[in-house]
Amino acid sequence: MRKETAPVLSVRNMSKQFGGGCERCANPDTRVLDKNYCPDCGTVYSCQGLTFDLYPGEVLGIVGESGSGKSTMMRCVYFDEEVTGGEAYIRTYKGGSVNLFEESQQQKRYIRNHLMGKVYQNPMLGLRMEFTSIGNIAEKMIAAGSRNVQAMEARGRELLERVHIPLFRMKEAPKLFSGGMQQRVQIAKALSNQPSILLLDEVTTGLDLSVQANVLDLIKQLQRELGISMLLVSHDLGVIRMLADRTMVMLDGRIVEQGLTDQILEDPQHAYTQQLVQSLL
Ligand SMILES: [Zn+2]
Repeated sequence: MRKETAPVLSVRNMSKQFGGGCERCANPDTRVLDKNYCPDCGTVYSCQGLTFDLYPGEVLGIVGESGSGKSTMMRCVYFDEEVTGGEAYIRTYKGGSVNLFEESQQQKRYIRNHLMGKVYQNPMLGLRMEFTSIGNIAEKMIAAGSRNVQAMEARGRELLERVHIPLFRMKEAPKLFSGGMQQRVQIAKALSNQPSILLLDEVTTGLDLSVQANVLDLIKQLQRELGISMLLVSHDLGVIRMLADRTMVMLDGRIVEQGLTDQILEDPQHAYTQQLVQSLL
């Protein structure tokens, strides 16, 4: 982590709500919710005023239970979901001076294809299960403007090797692969256009423990080799502990604690974090 440099991604006061709100809940300063929703009108406040920075070469972990808003946060950053309010800036996009959330759909697609990669918990969201594995990589490269078939094939081979998919299987469809292999192909696809930011959403959840450990090792290795910045969402503090330099703890749509991962593990401040750390012991 190099804090003296400017962040690669800055998110300011980002919010996402489902529902129109009512008198009881409209004002963020005075709203009193039942967890993350308003009992009067049913509006769900998934993300409430999230502010954070991601620095070059760091892994920022986001931990929280289901319903904490961590995956919605990630979907908003990747434009899978439209925010209700807030700002986001990428240092390498228009000099970091333009709020990404206010860009056109076309520009958002450009940002997704060139500057970010995302790996989903459910491989069906990140992969075309019927395409070949190398075809999945080519698809992402074509989306970013590549047209040279030989160059795409060379890049595809290089990436599949990097994630330890045997090349003799590169023409096979991901639907024929194990869960761990599917995640490896997703990672290769997400990296295909050399993004500066990789988003990882519960990527090892549901895998067998030994497979999980292999995928986490791979992510760690890629992070070291490529120096890529990562946002890593997980409900599992063990996963966060293994990979994240810094950690944010989310509860009911808010960040309740953030700091160096070691510090959070050694001296958790918030009662919810204390409970999470306890459960690791
Ligand atoms: Zn309400």
